[in-house]
Amino acid sequence: QSRWSLQGMTALVTGGTRGIGHGIVEELAGLGVAVHFCSRKQEEIDQCLQEWASKGFKVTGSLCDVLHRDQREKLMETVSTTFHGKLNILVNNAGTSVPKEALDYSPEDIGIVMGTNFESAYHFSQLAHPLLKASGGGSIINISSVMGIVGGPCSTVYAASKGAINHSTKLLACEWAKDNIRTNAVAPGLIKTSFVEPAMENPAFAEHFTRAMGQIPLLRPGLPEDISSVVAFLCFPAASYINGEVIVVDGGWTISGFY
Ligand code: NDP
Repeated sequence: QSRWSLQGMTALVTGGTRGIGHGIVEELAGLGVAVHFCSRKQEEIDQCLQEWASKGFKVTGSLCDVLHRDQREKLMETVSTTFHGKLNILVNNAGTSVPKEALDYSPEDIGIVMGTNFESAYHFSQLAHPLLKASGGGSIINISSVMGIVGGPCSTVYAASKGAINHSTKLLACEWAKDNIRTNAVAPGLIKTSFVEPAMENPAFAEHFTRAMGQIPLLRPGLPEDISSVVAFLCFPAASYINGEVIVVDGGWTISGFY
């Protein structure tokens, strides 16, 4: 395999129908990777499959709500069958948020956020381990958030779920290096997707986003392709000595605190 090629590799991307996940599927498939993705809406999956088939990409997709353990197991069985028991790349991207003040969180809210974000990424890594090992060179990329490093309003549980992802990324990187599996995370800042657009367009949050934009040295929100390029880079053989890193991609937002 050439240092700058992903040709012929296989990948699973969770949450691939919109936003950052959609960008990651496109980036990897465009580089010659056979990609399987999931989401919770069959109609959107079918639309994406059509779109990518018309571009000549090798992409398959199926339903999976990553919150549920049995659905994760079923998805990994599908992936194993599709890729003959081997997987080069696992991208744990699907994530959610229930923005509330700390005293308002119910046990259900906490279960949804921790389950969708942290537990799913951890369990998918466990499930994918034999396939990643069998490929001879596996790469796990967890999509974390700058909220796992710094903070923001109404995000105690979301930030904790991303902090858990960041730390488990580092420890899995140590434990599974012997199996030639590298584990890294990408921590996006503010990225224009369906996850944040409704809030960005809500007049009630206008002040918050104007302030945030002023704090980003590059003075713009990121786009899904700003994240997908870094994910792809981490998968290249050329990145084979990067292991256990959390790479912040935020236009300089988190570092601009004292300006
Ligand atoms: P979007 O809401 O735009 O897209 C999320 C994708 O994941 C959709 O395809 C969605 O499809 C799918 N998804 C959501 N929940 C589940 C679930 N339970 N099971 C399966 N699929 C699911 O979000 P983003 O692209 O913005 O976010 C992607 C990741 O990036 C998340 O982990 C998020 O925390 C992280 N992130 C985003 C930032 C941003 O500013 N946008 C900043 C930092 C981190 P469907 O709903 O149909 O299932």
